[in-house]
Amino acid sequence: MRIARRSTVEELLTALPEEGTTGLSLEDGARIAVVGGGPAGSFFSYFLLDIAEAVDLPVTVDIFEPRHFTHSGPAGCNHCGGIISESLVQVLAAEGIRLPRSVVQRGIESYVVHMDEGSVRIESPVHEQRIASVFRGNGPRGGGDMPWDSFDGYLLGMAADRGARLERRLVSGLDWVDGLPQLRHPGEEGSTYDLVALAVGVNSNLPHLVRGSEPESTTRTTRTYICEFQADQQTIRETLGSSMHVFLSDIPRLEFAALIPKGEYVTLVVLGDDIDQPLISAFLASPGVRRCMPEHAIPTVCNCAPLINIRGPRRPYADRLVLVGDCGVTRLYKDGIGAAYRTAKAAAETVVFHGVSAEAFEHNYWPACKAIERDNAIGKFMFGFTRTFKVLGFWRRGVLRMTIREQRKERSRRMSAVLWNLFTGSASYREILMNTLHPAFVAGMLWNLALGIRPGGNGRRKTGGMNAQGRAGQAVG
Ligand SMILES: Cc1cc2nc3c(=O)[nH]c(=O)nc-3n(C[C@H](O)[C@H](O)[C@H](O)COP(=O)(O)OP(=O)(O)OC[C@H]3O[C@@H](n4cnc5c(N)ncnc54)[C@H](O)[C@@H]3O)c2cc1C
Repeated sequence: MRIARRSTVEELLTALPEEGTTGLSLEDGARIAVVGGGPAGSFFSYFLLDIAEAVDLPVTVDIFEPRHFTHSGPAGCNHCGGIISESLVQVLAAEGIRLPRSVVQRGIESYVVHMDEGSVRIESPVHEQRIASVFRGNGPRGGGDMPWDSFDGYLLGMAADRGARLERRLVSGLDWVDGLPQLRHPGEEGSTYDLVALAVGVNSNLPHLVRGSEPESTTRTTRTYICEFQADQQTIRETLGSSMHVFLSDIPRLEFAALIPKGEYVTLVVLGDDIDQPLISAFLASPGVRRCMPEHAIPTVCNCAPLINIRGPRRPYADRLVLVGDCGVTRLYKDGIGAAYRTAKAAAETVVFHGVSAEAFEHNYWPACKAIERDNAIGKFMFGFTRTFKVLGFWRRGVLRMTIREQRKERSRRMSAVLWNLFTGSASYREILMNTLHPAFVAGMLWNLALGIRPGGNGRRKTGGMNAQGRAGQAVG
């Protein structure tokens, strides 16, 4: 994934518009409300205050966030697998945002891909590019006080340190008074602002409660599933190791699922088309899951079925209103936190340098969203392709065989890189597609597919299968 590098203050200053070119611009003392203190709201507030200070524009930012990220369970959680690609950690570090060790668990160094025919462990193609896992709140329900800090809590604290004021209140609606947005709160009148940034994700109905002058907020969503299993740390180490386990099972409506070990918990994330209980049961009973799920794990100490954004609104802005993060445009099925960073920063730059009119957002914010949407269209095609072919045994055997062979050699790990990037979010879908069109990849794939046509040609005999942790040399059931 290519993330826009940080613009220097000098570069941004040269981008300042002639006075009055966009009509609505922020003036000294402007008041900005940010609704939602998840990653998008915190990044937006942080960058807005940072850039405004650099150009000597005094503004106030109020963040409305009722959730306490120090709480365990749903009260402090923003429902997520908590995987952050190392490339995003590095981009944030370049921004001066260094996530402390208490927030980022750096334990995940490889992926194990499971199919019905067997499993293969994929080591990080670039050694420095390990994956970070985080808890968005303070861990699962009833977990007590965890020895780590919440990722969302850290970002929110960072925005507060930059000068944002945190209001622990729910926003129940948005009206317009004399052309200015006014927030509503349960049982009380809210105040008006020069700009409202909605960063409420997709599990809130607030975008639908914006009356008049609203953006075209027809976000398409689908239901996912996420739950935590508990087991003792040693059992988890023995069964899952320090790898994230991804499942490409032949189950209708399932795109993919992942088991992520985190201390004495294992997070299960299931993504696909409107995930429901029968699909979860079929998945948990599938051979790949049974092979690697820790025995005696206590199921679902905490579970939920949050929505995920699969298509953003056509126009995530209006005069004095902008939607950032999940409630606007995000990446399909992965790296939502990276997309929250990108959209929040693009919106903050637009607001300071180009103003808060719909026109300013159209010309300066929308291109960043459109780039993500265009890439998602490629992602949709790739997931559709995988969905069609993963039902074919010889295709699964071919992919598995090619990956196993690559992992035994140091060079030309093309299939490994494609799978790695598909699951980590480290590369754009376009980049992944281009890699699959490389003649060496196509030739390798055709060769392994041909061998995969023979049942038993999955490399078990010749290359050795993988056990639950994906270690080479052991046959699989
Ligand atoms: C099952 C699942 C697994 C995922 N796994 C990953 C992953 O591993 N890695 C990754 O990068 N992304 C992942 N994502 C996506 C990621 O969770 C989102 O992209 C990311 O959280 C978006 O951040 P956000 O700030 O836009 O929204 P959110 O994180 O949803 O934050 C919205 C905030 O707004 C607040 N809010 C809502 N309504 C109101 C209101 N009316 N008033 C005031 N505050 C309000 C909420 O309390 C919340 O704190 C996953 C998503 C799902 C569903």
